[in-house]
Amino acid sequence: MRKKIVAGNWKMNLNRDNAIQLFNDLETKTFPNEVNVIIAPPSIYLDSFSKAVNIKIASQDVSSNENGAFTGEFSSEMLRSLKLKYSIVGHSERRQYHNESDDLIFLKAKRLIQQNISPIFCCGESLEERKSKNQFNIVKSQLSHILNKLKKSEFEKIVIAYEPVWAIGTGLTAEPTDAQNMHSFLRELVSDSYGPEIAENTSIIYGGSCKPNNSKELFSMKDIDGGLIGGASLDSNSFESIINSF
Ligand code: PEP
Repeated sequence: MRKKIVAGNWKMNLNRDNAIQLFNDLETKTFPNEVNVIIAPPSIYLDSFSKAVNIKIASQDVSSNENGAFTGEFSSEMLRSLKLKYSIVGHSERRQYHNESDDLIFLKAKRLIQQNISPIFCCGESLEERKSKNQFNIVKSQLSHILNKLKKSEFEKIVIAYEPVWAIGTGLTAEPTDAQNMHSFLRELVSDSYGPEIAENTSIIYGGSCKPNNSKELFSMKDIDGGLIGGASLDSNSFESIINSF
């Protein structure tokens, strides 16, 4: 059975005291057993939170290089040494502001898998692409950079996050049925490459202005296995109510 996942992406927010406060608030809450609760704090705080008990810790990114002279970067091996189990890759903000290509994102995912860390692989179309009804082609093309290039046993570590770029941080959310259509399409693509069993077991989560007032409807969709939450993950009560909306 595939995992239900709610992951909070803190992005570049919160000073140390505020980050510790939010982390402590979340650690003392009780979440449903069947939900994997993840937070992705800024990398400078990863070590402080790596011994979390109730929640799992993810990084927001990773280097595509193994190790060496890459100032400012950190490797998948370093994440492994902190016992991290997840890392986001291919977030639209990294694609947009750091010109990350599909090939680079594939390399990052591969590095993570080599260290037994699950990549939370983000994909999603821009507003122009949706307006021109190109969303399925775009997402297919993004996903095709990992499908078939990873062995079955490697792909099993992947979590897919469908994040329409026009919905991220904008307050606009995909209609649950539109999101469901995309998730079902993504699952079919996985099935075409790796078979129905792997597809059934792949968690596909939704991101894009997911909030307490819309998470229940989104998570009730057959192929939506949870959410990648930006803004609403910075408030422990909002994040908790999203987690409890399963
Ligand atoms: C995100 O950045 O992954 C995200 C979904 O942000 P928000 O929830 O703020 O739209």
